[in-house]
Amino acid sequence: MARNTNDVRVLIAGAGIAGLAAAISLTRQASIPNLKVVLYEQADELKEIGASIALSPNGMRTLERLGVHNALADELGFRSPSGIPQVFRHWKTNQVHSVDTHNDVPDPRHATTRFHRGHLHSALLEHVPRESIHLGKKTVRAEADHQSVSLYFDDGTSARADILIGADGLRSDGRMQIVRQSFIPQYKLRFSGKVFMRSTFDASLVEGKVPDLPADSIHWWGPKDNFFASRLGKQQYTTVGAYSDPRTTEEVEKTVSWDEEGGVEFLRERYKDWNPVVRALTEVTPYTKPYPNFIGDSLATWVLALRVTLIGDAAHAHGGAFAAGGSLALDDALTLGLAFGHALKGLDAEQSLLDSSIQLALELYSRARQPHTERLLRIVHRQASEGQGQSQVGDDEEQQLSRRLRNRASTVWLSEHDAEAAFAATVAKLEEENIAEKQSRKVKL
Ligand SMILES: Cc1cc2nc3c(=O)[nH]c(=O)nc-3n(C[C@H](O)[C@H](O)[C@H](O)COP(=O)(O)OP(=O)(O)OC[C@H]3O[C@@H](n4cnc5c(N)ncnc54)[C@H](O)[C@@H]3O)c2cc1C
Repeated sequence: MARNTNDVRVLIAGAGIAGLAAAISLTRQASIPNLKVVLYEQADELKEIGASIALSPNGMRTLERLGVHNALADELGFRSPSGIPQVFRHWKTNQVHSVDTHNDVPDPRHATTRFHRGHLHSALLEHVPRESIHLGKKTVRAEADHQSVSLYFDDGTSARADILIGADGLRSDGRMQIVRQSFIPQYKLRFSGKVFMRSTFDASLVEGKVPDLPADSIHWWGPKDNFFASRLGKQQYTTVGAYSDPRTTEEVEKTVSWDEEGGVEFLRERYKDWNPVVRALTEVTPYTKPYPNFIGDSLATWVLALRVTLIGDAAHAHGGAFAAGGSLALDDALTLGLAFGHALKGLDAEQSLLDSSIQLALELYSRARQPHTERLLRIVHRQASEGQGQSQVGDDEEQQLSRRLRNRASTVWLSEHDAEAAFAATVAKLEEENIAEKQSRKVKL
């Protein structure tokens, strides 16, 4: 990237939700003079995989704070008519056994909203200058020293700048994540024991064809497996079968590749004993794509080198848990922008960028976000190691289901998290620590 002396140059690897939101946030929240953000995306065109994505109130509120108002439009996403974000029903009887509710979500536009990913992605893209996104640039390696950061691409080219943000998702080369792996080569993902079979299609395929089609978003829970169905915005519909798979990480890596089309016959077979609504939904589902769910440990820090950090799935490998990843990526992005805004406050175009400001920004970002995502990762790892079914020898199907339901974790702390307030608390704590340190130094003198 060409540089004028006072430019602050940022490289972002990956133009998914996290990468785009980071570009928007750095531009709008941080107000850095002479900021130059460039995104490098491996895909040759900007289209998102045809899956659904749900954003919880934290993600919707953050979209608004980032100024992405177009994503809050009623027609873009689907919000349950009852105001209940998620209804849980019995796999066999179809009876409602519990519901999730919002605790403190006064603005109805911030209620849980379900999108076709492509629509959410396009809404974010409207806020990022097209010329700042370079397509067909697959990162194969990242490096950093005291003065600069570099990305190397599979076409033999490279880019150099002041700050690097790894936004290349969970498994950027099909197995691992390149930016994270460049700095922590020993980091490993593992199969969580769950596979999601996802499909998104036109809602006309279900309308009038599925008797008793629910108006709300429904999660049917069985003794081991789940089935999810919901309307999405813009007349789309989604079905997701989530089933337990006893294979090891190595076995799964050999047999299933990411985002490939899988057999819809397998989905129908898997749910053939479920209630008639679920069965009818599997019949109208035109295709499925299997996504084996991979998870990883939390990182000791998100500051990988003096000028390098991660965002979104690259920073917290929680897989598809609680459909939280899109909202977390947006909250990460908001916090990153706030952190740079705070650390670089008062730095004008005439000043050269201070290394200490970059370090303070990354430190604040990591401190504000890590404890929150670590809490999620602890739950995810506990569930994976216990096995989601948590069945015991002798349990019949009904007992297995009640055990699962009893162990269902409450997620209001996640879905209604306020990233801006958490950032303000982090800054206040750091300032208190600095005052305490100064006082203790005085006492020692
Ligand atoms: C089965 C499943 C279901 C999910 N359901 C939900 C849900 O309902 N709600 C929700 O909020 N979240 C959900 N998630 C999580 C959500 O998809 C992610 O958390 C979210 O997409 C994170 O965005 P990201 O930008 O970090 O990563 P990604 O969306 O993976 O984006 C990464 C980007 O980087 C690019 N890239 C990757 N490698 C390279 C490279 N080497 N060089 C250059 N570019 C690269 C990719 O092409 C992509 O554009 C689900 C996840 C899974 C697996």
